[in-house]
Amino acid sequence: MGVTKSPGDNDIRTEVSAQWFARAETVTPGGVNSPVRAFGSVGGTPRFIASASGSTLVDVDGNRYVDLVCSWGPMILGHAHPAVVEAAVRAAESGLSFGAPVPGEVLLAEEIVARVAPVEEVRLVNSGTEATMSAVRLARGYTGRAKILKFAGCYHGHVDALLADAGSGLATFGLPTSPGVTGAQAEDTIVVPYNDLDAVKAAFEANPGEIACVITEAAAGNMGAVPPLPGFNAGLREITERDGALLVMDEVMTGFRVSRAGWYGLDPVAADLFTFGKVMSGGLPAAAFGGRADVMNRLAPAGPVYQAGTLSGNPVAVAAGLATLRAADDSVYAALDRNCATLGHLASEALTAEGVPHRVQNAGNLVTIFFTDGPVTNYDEAKAAQTWRYGPFFQELLRRGVYAPPSAFEAWFVSSALDDDAFSVVADAMPHAARAAAAAQP
Ligand SMILES: *Cc1c(COP(=O)(O)O)cnc(C)c1O
Repeated sequence: MGVTKSPGDNDIRTEVSAQWFARAETVTPGGVNSPVRAFGSVGGTPRFIASASGSTLVDVDGNRYVDLVCSWGPMILGHAHPAVVEAAVRAAESGLSFGAPVPGEVLLAEEIVARVAPVEEVRLVNSGTEATMSAVRLARGYTGRAKILKFAGCYHGHVDALLADAGSGLATFGLPTSPGVTGAQAEDTIVVPYNDLDAVKAAFEANPGEIACVITEAAAGNMGAVPPLPGFNAGLREITERDGALLVMDEVMTGFRVSRAGWYGLDPVAADLFTFGKVMSGGLPAAAFGGRADVMNRLAPAGPVYQAGTLSGNPVAVAAGLATLRAADDSVYAALDRNCATLGHLASEALTAEGVPHRVQNAGNLVTIFFTDGPVTNYDEAKAAQTWRYGPFFQELLRRGVYAPPSAFEAWFVSSALDDDAFSVVADAMPHAARAAAAAQP
């Protein structure tokens, strides 16, 4: 409702966003607090957001956008959902942080444990990065082994040991890995191609009894949406179990989004540890890791592996997260699936009409439009797509009121708040965007 944009109204004003970005650049590196927000790979002025409601973002110049980023995942119910806002406000009015336990932490942990069967115990943290960092430390502490194995193009937050070949943010900026990550940290990280079980087997044969864990995105979303091939996650389970290594399933992006139980609900592979973030935060800083009780109980204060957080389990964040999960019922998941299918259909129809080679690829209700003919099963294939078409495609969507991810290597995120009005804006914009993609030059 209320998403209005007259057709052909292309030359929208961005002066106020541009002014804020200029001010930001003088006090913040690159003007943003997370790199992809700077629009580096797509060009143009990053929009500063004034407010959002339902499926609509409003920027500081007063432009309205149908939001297909959803804060990179968390806002599955749409923005400023009344039940979530009310829960957060009520919690805030009772005090913002105590550094002591609150009932809300227990309720959120119980909700997570109830949704994902192999998760027996949960520790709450403040970001997905903290969740994966802590899960890897716990895997090393539990097994007494140093090495870890990850997949090229999978992103697990900006943890030193996990930044090798880490997909979207780094791909967007062309950084192979990051300065500041020492050789020692990188040395213990083995990186193999995604969806390649033979490479995983070979790595275990070359390092028997030395690998603490395999960490994988439950379905890759940070090289664009690239689902695991049938049997891939199950194969990881078999290989790790045989060697005595742990399997860490990173569901920070997929968790509580692609189904009630996340990717586990679609592809039930019982990992030892899972990591969560994004949706379970309700849009505030909260994340979690959890899994087998005997592994989790190695954490302090139950065990010797240290992990802590001043603001962990923050009462306002857990209230927003719990309200989000409680509102996310079967009808919400059905809406997400339906909206993702509609979005993919609109994009495909427009790109086909313009003869643009493309593939609308899903991982559950995550979707990415790859400018390539074939399926994308790993990072090399994602990088081989005609990513130079994405900037013009993105810009045309943006000026016609559709806010897509500002990088070719990202998943698009739908909300249950997308309605007919929102999709009519998308439907009007797509043919123009497809034309821009068709006209793009490498
Ligand atoms: C977003 C993401 C992270 C990092 O979470 P932050 O809250 O940004 O630190 C980790 N893993 C995956 C799969 C993600 O998508």
